Amino acid sequence: MFLNSREKPIELLYYIALSKRKELTNNEKYQLSNLEKGFEGESLYDEIFDFIGHDNLYIIRDLYLHINNSVTQYDSIIVMDNRIVVNEVKNLTGDYRYDNNSWYKNNRQMESDPFIQLNRAKNKIVSLGNKSSLDFYTDSKVIFPNDDFNFTSDNEKMHNQAVMRTQLKNYFRSFRNETIGDNAKNIVQLIKNSITSKPDTADFINISELKHGLYCGHCSSFNLLKGKFQFKCSDCGSIESYETHLVRAMFDYKYLFPSHPMTRLSLLQLIDYKINKNTVFCALKKHCYSVKKGNSTYYTLKYSNFNQQLSVIRSTQRYKDKIIHS
Ligand SMILES: [Zn+2]
Repeated sequence: MFLNSREKPIELLYYIALSKRKELTNNEKYQLSNLEKGFEGESLYDEIFDFIGHDNLYIIRDLYLHINNSVTQYDSIIVMDNRIVVNEVKNLTGDYRYDNNSWYKNNRQMESDPFIQLNRAKNKIVSLGNKSSLDFYTDSKVIFPNDDFNFTSDNEKMHNQAVMRTQLKNYFRSFRNETIGDNAKNIVQLIKNSITSKPDTADFINISELKHGLYCGHCSSFNLLKGKFQFKCSDCGSIESYETHLVRAMFDYKYLFPSHPMTRLSLLQLIDYKINKNTVFCALKKHCYSVKKGNSTYYTLKYSNFNQQLSVIRSTQRYKDKIIHS
């Protein structure tokens, strides 16, 4: 059973927010599409695992563990009574080759090696186990969930560490006789005790480089007509309340400026004062926790996910959002 949900990674949310408010450079476009592809691969992994079934397993996804003074990211950790399996999901496409300890794509040598990354992550778990009184074995596989991924290698060991899309269902079926008793519960607890948050990142962007204002949630246009309680998009006709726009802007702020806490003024700057400051203040009080520091008040969102929050707003709002699908 999945013990936690899988959310879009923070880096992906950053590039999505950035793409709404800035013309992306080629490198930013590349990062965005890579991160989207990675998340699609992980979602496909989850979907196929759901299809096969996993009630007899504990699965913790997308987590950071602090072990031996460093932080490592894991896509998926499967826990059973006597072993742990670490899965690294790589949604690669195209023809790859692994020869002489190096990866090649179309004969070009690659800088990152998923097997080395996986081995490092696996050894951290081994070390965690060795320091505990629990008895378990740690195994690992790189999962390649994309149909369009071909891999050749002269090294048999690499084939044993890889699971291709065509093998994935059988791979998940191979867990069907596993059990989760007390030892598995204790292993989960051991892992949970090492969970940490993602290391802090600095802001990459200055607010002056961004388009200020509000944009349509459907077509992303900044051409909005202001009504008394709502904005209407001039391009697609969708209507969204002030509240919807403000919460979207608060999430944009959170992803774009991770190291600068949001203030009423910084939010007003981002939305280019399109909504009056008292309404902004009420929305901040409703949707955020406030922290007073000296003369300033900072706001942090009460919810982790914009879409979840949007459905709550839409189910209770007086002036309904109306998305026009052309
Ligand atoms: Zn629109």
